[in-house]
Amino acid sequence: MPETGDVTVERARDVHSYANLDEVRVTHVELDLTVLFEERQLRAAAMLSFERVGDDADVLVLDTRDLHITAVESWSALGGFDPATYAIGMPDPVLGSPLTITLPPDATRVRVTYETSPDASGLQWLLPEQTGGGEHPFMFTQSQAIHARSWIPLQDSPGVRVTYGARVKTPDGLRAVMSAGNDPNGPLDGSYRFDMPQPIPSYLIALAVGELDFRALGDRAGVYAEPSLILAAESEFEDTAAMIEVAEQLYGPYRWDRYDLLVLPPSFPFGGMENPRLTFATPTILAGDKSLVALVAHELAHSWSGNLVTNATWRDFWLNEGFTVYIERRIVEALYGRARADMEGVLGVEALNFDLERLDSSDTVLHINLDGRDPDEGMTQVAYEKGALFLRQLEELVGRTEFDRFLRGYFNHFSFQSITTADFEAYLRENLLVTDASSSRVAVDEWLRGFGIPEGASMPSSDAFTLVEEQVAYWVGGDRTAASLEVAGWTTFEWLHFLAQLPQSLSTSQLAELDQAFELTSSGNAEIVHQWLLITIRNAYLPTRDRLERYLLDIGRRKLVLPLYQAMAETADGRSLAMNIYRQARPGYHPITANSVDAVLGWSE
Ligand SMILES: [Zn+2]
Repeated sequence: MPETGDVTVERARDVHSYANLDEVRVTHVELDLTVLFEERQLRAAAMLSFERVGDDADVLVLDTRDLHITAVESWSALGGFDPATYAIGMPDPVLGSPLTITLPPDATRVRVTYETSPDASGLQWLLPEQTGGGEHPFMFTQSQAIHARSWIPLQDSPGVRVTYGARVKTPDGLRAVMSAGNDPNGPLDGSYRFDMPQPIPSYLIALAVGELDFRALGDRAGVYAEPSLILAAESEFEDTAAMIEVAEQLYGPYRWDRYDLLVLPPSFPFGGMENPRLTFATPTILAGDKSLVALVAHELAHSWSGNLVTNATWRDFWLNEGFTVYIERRIVEALYGRARADMEGVLGVEALNFDLERLDSSDTVLHINLDGRDPDEGMTQVAYEKGALFLRQLEELVGRTEFDRFLRGYFNHFSFQSITTADFEAYLRENLLVTDASSSRVAVDEWLRGFGIPEGASMPSSDAFTLVEEQVAYWVGGDRTAASLEVAGWTTFEWLHFLAQLPQSLSTSQLAELDQAFELTSSGNAEIVHQWLLITIRNAYLPTRDRLERYLLDIGRRKLVLPLYQAMAETADGRSLAMNIYRQARPGYHPITANSVDAVLGWSE
């Protein structure tokens, strides 16, 4: 139910899509997919139902990348299927190729028959030895930002929403799951049917196929994972149902029926991907103590910010991620307490500052200009953490009760729509900053279009971290040995802050002392090991070399591996070590991770 106002959504121009959205809009996609592991291909047909927006619309332009198209047909109620006239444009390195289909006057659907490339940017194919079980292959999609076009010809813009259906054929015994209705009890007979009744942007269409077990996490939540991880996943994610309840109390009903998680093999390039009804997640958050489940809160939060109210273009990405980080912290606070939310907030600001020091100033604005660039370049902590700081500032200005009311209204008003930064700004001024006095107390324009963090911004702080800093000072000052520091009861967050606060330069004996006291090298927590390895690379500490190599070979999550390569690349010795490890690791990495590491190391095949 809309709260107030006549704020309506303006049509935004998306520089990352060829689609002629002002003439034709696809409303439904019907997929027929055969999953060919040997060939690393999908053999497929996509039938697109569309509406004409412009009166004289006579072509439909779709986004594609590296698709081998074998037939294009148009369909009309009178004439059935007919071969259609079409043209495939020259490929652009970022955008791929436009597929321009001539539409007969009475046509309401088109069908494209095609095969994907073995190197499709949105697909990863894993050999059995790259999975936990080691016996069956695995494949998964990652469509955000503009990779859906590498496995489906469609209008690949977040400004257009579709419902979809799919038939998927797989080898016997494997399970296919999608960002749609999944049946955990269906037979594993190699033939699957999916329906997604809620309209979603193309970047949320997702598929995974592998040896997958399922465990329920309450009535409307559950987790899929390889058999070797299913029990660990079930216990790590046991608070998922409670998270859904907390989020609903804050922001209104969960609108996607079920919320399931899929734990992917360790090469998944991201922490998580908020595919509706089925969050894709990295196994590196299975820490054994629920200390990294903020990621689940984050992906769940996207069920409101991002999936329900969607950025209309990739330059509005902060609307997805800034809101989601803010909501993630609210869920964490409600479930695990203020102290933990504060610690996660401070760590978030530390990550933001790391990015701010390295980015061009023009890339430190929320409403970033991505013309002529890959939208993945806009996926920095600016969208996430600076966006969340802005919302935090608004909350402080009007108070939590009022701000929660505003957000509930916002999600209702724009539900199942894609909006721009300007749409948000208009809604904000009409429904929250309604008086001149309130408007003048928060510099909205500076937050949205200014560089870095506005002066006087309210920043999170953590009392627990103050105690950690005291312990660091004792040790650095030589007042105490590592073994005599007061670390009892420290959680993952205190450890991460402790490691981040250590001096840049440490001696071999200091590092050995830390490792002996705290067993950092053998920690099973992927985030703590990451921080520790960064420190040991920086100080050329040899005893962790084996652990570093194993880590980079086992894990493909970009956030965890890229900084390690970056740190190694800063010295000549480190660089040659990095090249040696990367030569072995690269075939197991997702293209998204490999592209980033390639750029750091100047790698070319
Ligand atoms: Zn997110």
